[in-house]
Amino acid sequence: MTTNVTHQITPAKRMANVSYAIRDLAVVADQVARQGHEIMYLNIGDPCKFDFPTPPHMIEAAERAMRDGFNGYGESLGEHSALNAIRAQAEAKGFQNIQGIMVGYGSGEVIEHCLTALLNPGDNVLTPIPDYPLYGAVLGKLSAEANSYFLDEENGWQPDLEELASRINARTKAILLINPNNPTGAIYSRATLERVAELARRHNLLILADEIYDKLILDDGCEHVSIATLAPDLPVITFNGLSKAYLVPGWRIGWAIATGPAAAFTDYLEAVYKLLRARLSAPLPFMHTIAPALQGPQEHLKEARAKLRRRRDLTVQWAARTPRVSLAAPKGAFYAFPKLDVPEEDISFVTGLLQEKHVLCVHGGGFGQRAGTRHMRIVFLPQEEILEQAYGRITDFITQRY
Ligand code: PLP
Repeated sequence: MTTNVTHQITPAKRMANVSYAIRDLAVVADQVARQGHEIMYLNIGDPCKFDFPTPPHMIEAAERAMRDGFNGYGESLGEHSALNAIRAQAEAKGFQNIQGIMVGYGSGEVIEHCLTALLNPGDNVLTPIPDYPLYGAVLGKLSAEANSYFLDEENGWQPDLEELASRINARTKAILLINPNNPTGAIYSRATLERVAELARRHNLLILADEIYDKLILDDGCEHVSIATLAPDLPVITFNGLSKAYLVPGWRIGWAIATGPAAAFTDYLEAVYKLLRARLSAPLPFMHTIAPALQGPQEHLKEARAKLRRRRDLTVQWAARTPRVSLAAPKGAFYAFPKLDVPEEDISFVTGLLQEKHVLCVHGGGFGQRAGTRHMRIVFLPQEEILEQAYGRITDFITQRY
């Protein structure tokens, strides 16, 4: 049958504000792969694509839930067993004044609802540069603004607090902290967090704390502090989930914990709950794996941290001996964000690297960076041999190109 379509479906204008660099580059990679090249993927933070298998007790818990008939819709805010387990773990870490817990399809979904319920067009959220691009994409969709503050590379990528303070204006509704950080791997010190809390207190801002990597702390003796535990008097929403620490990103389970004074949250949480009810529920069988995850064996985490520590060290050593590359050592998660001293934009650098050496990293511009600086984000999840090979190719690319 021939069609005679003469009109185009036009995307909404707001879509001009939405981009997601991590997946956009994967499209170019597909073209390179179609030419028959094998690509080394150092771009996506999915441990299951590498040697981080899902712990067997997680699979058993999912299977059991399905066999036990948990295959319908679940509770919109989250199943009771899941909410209880999340609450118990949060309280054990020192969270007080828990006012609400919400489970969604990945932390990404709850992040989106929490921003949607908070922001009118033209409002802004203090967001870090570099940033995990989900936030910019959601803010763009809401016609709200990412009011960017810099993370300071010279200071181990800690937030630049003076600049943060100077950015606050009448339309600023919240401060976003990603700790441990994607894409820099930084972990924020207690002193930094106390100063951020003080700013939020002074300016009546909601704190949004993305702590999805809080169990992936690479060095013994380095502590992760949740800002909610330092500021029980302030409204804080902390995001977390199963994707990274329990090695099931495809199950799409994440959550938010609202802490602080009950009075601050009365209307706002009800608005978030409305959005959660409208989309019915997170996937029910996988909600039944939250309690087994948080309360079951944690050995896989020890193994994952040991592997990641070796791979981080290898990355740091490579950066130290490679011309035109410098790196503030990551302390958590599985990302490195080296600076590139190269005479071209980082998007053309990573595109050239992909086309010539078939190594896929994301350009720093996809996360934002100080004007005039260039970076790339490396995901150091692959096994050591593969990382060595990929780093060898990047070094060759740099020495041949310049
Ligand atoms: N927050 C950060 C900082 C992330 O890096 C990611 C995923 O990479 C997410 C949130 C989303 O995770 P999920 O939706 O799988 O919970």
